[in-house]
This record gives sequence, structure tokens and C-alpha cells, in this order.
Amino acid sequence: MSDSAVVDLHLHTTFSDGTLTPTEMVELCVQRGLKVISISDHDTTEGLTETFEAASRHPGLTVIPGVELSTDVPGGEIHVLGYFLEVEDVGLQEVLQRFRLGREGRAEKMVEKLNELGLNILWDRVREISGEGAIGRPHIAQALVEAGYVQYPKDAFDRYISRSGPAYVERMKFTPEEAIKLILDHGALPVMAHPTYSASKSDRDGVSSLKQVLTDLKQAGLVGMEVYYGDYTPEQVEELAAYAKELDLIPCGGSDYHASGNPGEPEPGTVGPPIATFEALQALKD
Ligand code: AMP
Ligand code: ZN
Ligand code: FE
Ligand code: FE
Repeated sequence: MSDSAVVDLHLHTTFSDGTLTPTEMVELCVQRGLKVISISDHDTTEGLTETFEAASRHPGLTVIPGVELSTDVPGGEIHVLGYFLEVEDVGLQEVLQRFRLGREGRAEKMVEKLNELGLNILWDRVREISGEGAIGRPHIAQALVEAGYVQYPKDAFDRYISRSGPAYVERMKFTPEEAIKLILDHGALPVMAHPTYSASKSDRDGVSSLKQVLTDLKQAGLVGMEVYYGDYTPEQVEELAAYAKELDLIPCGGSDYHASGNPGEPEPGTVGPPIATFEALQALKD
């Protein structure tokens, strides 16, 4: 699926920790020949209004409303994507709002820890970088780049803010089962994001006993898993495709593009699932 993907179901904008606005993201995706995309910002659906408005100028482009939720498992985290969410639901929006508030407190604590380590970055500056968007570690990483402490955002993760880093702070506790239930309860399809190690996001060493985890989450209502992702090697894709097939999960994926400024970041359209994936999701949703 390299070089000419037409589907990309994992993209982030300024409404969370991406640096392109939804309009810029839509324009880039059209330019790169994509036919189906999903904007899947962290803990927010607020970028979708602008996304659909921008997409309405491109009749050849289909947009799936998405979201990405972060959950915890012993020793690691699992991200769950939700596709075709009923975004107007007040209950859903209240939950997402609570997650975003949790992100604020957590990010502020990480900045305090960095300050204690002698790195002078200002909370106000991190807030400025995040703008109105759901705040996340990439915003802190950006502040560390600006202040000259690291060259690239990924270096900030490697040295300070990865799960094992000295300035890391835990997130609000939320389990993958709870995320799946939240997504199902709002008419949407839950999909497991980036199941294994990714080279460009080097603190991501994947989930141990992945097959058991997938089996349990399928039981809880998971309908798909990412297979065609970011910088996964052909071997990783092959292994994950085999799991997806065996467990009857729809093989999904996308670039997880953030326009982060990291070298070698996979761009929209360089990786993604076949169009059959979109058809399978669409069929399940109907
Ligand atoms: P947060 O939601 O605040 O925990 O931040 C998670 C986000 O940080 C992910 O969605 C990625 O965009 C980014 N990220 C995680 N690990 C790395 C890494 N090692 N290098 C660069 N970006 C990363
Ligand atoms: Zn992100
Ligand atoms: Fe993720
Ligand atoms: Fe993501």
C-alpha cells in the first residue's frame, strides 16, 4: 500500500496536537490524491465542523468523523479510534470535555517537572502553542524545541516525556473496554490504533501479548485494528494483517500525520488501508 494509498483513517489537526488546521489537512489530502480520510483528533470532535466545510469543496473526498481516545493497560497504553461518531450527543461531549480538562492538569504537571529538572519552559507558552486544541505532549515537545533544549520533538520524548522519561505524568485512568463502550454507545465503530512498536515514535514498544489483548477487546466490541500504519515495516504489516484476519477484525490504518516537524514523518497518502476497508466499515455502520 506504499506511495499511493487512497485511504487515510488517522490524522491529527490543530484541534489536538497536529499543526495543520482541518482546512490545510483537507487540502493536503486532496493534493495527495486521497479519496477517504478520517480526522481523528485526541479527545475532541471539534475540528470536524471545519473539516466537513473544507471537504464540501471537494466532492471526490469522503470524510469519516473520528476521534482517538487514550487508555491505560498495565505497563503501557492503548489508543482506541472511534469512527462515525454521533458528535452532537451531549453526553459524549461532556466526557470528551472531561478528558481535555484532565490533559490540561497533566500537561501543567509535566511542565513543573521539567522546570524542576532545570529546563526553563513556560506553561503559558505551552498553552499558546496548543491554542484552543486538546493539549498534549507534542505541545510540550514543541516548547522544548523552541527553547533550544532539543533539536526535534521526538528528542523531547526520548529524553524527558516518554512513559519512562523523568518528566512524565500519568493520564486520567481509562480502560480500553471503557473506551470501546463509549464509542459503541454513540453509534460508532471502535478500532485499535498502532498496535505495535513504531520507529518514529520510539517510546512505543507496543502491547505485550497483543493477540490475547485483541481477543479480549474483540469480545468487548472492537471491530478493527490498525495494520497499515505510519512507518510500520512490511513485516509488521504482514503480521498484523494475519492477526486481523484470524480475529475477524477490519484491517484499518493511516499515517497518524501530525505535521510534527520530526524528520521522516510519514505523510498522508504514503500509507493506508485498501478501499475495501472503508467499504467494510461503511457496511458495519449501516
Ligand atoms: P499525549 O496524548 O499527551 O499522551 O501525547 C501522545 C502523542 O504524542 C501521540 O499521539 C503522538 O503524537 C506523540 N508521541 C508519542 N510518542 C512519541 C515519540 N516517541 N516521538 C514523537 N511523538 C510521540
Ligand atoms: Zn497525537
Ligand atoms: Fe495514538
Ligand atoms: Fe494518533
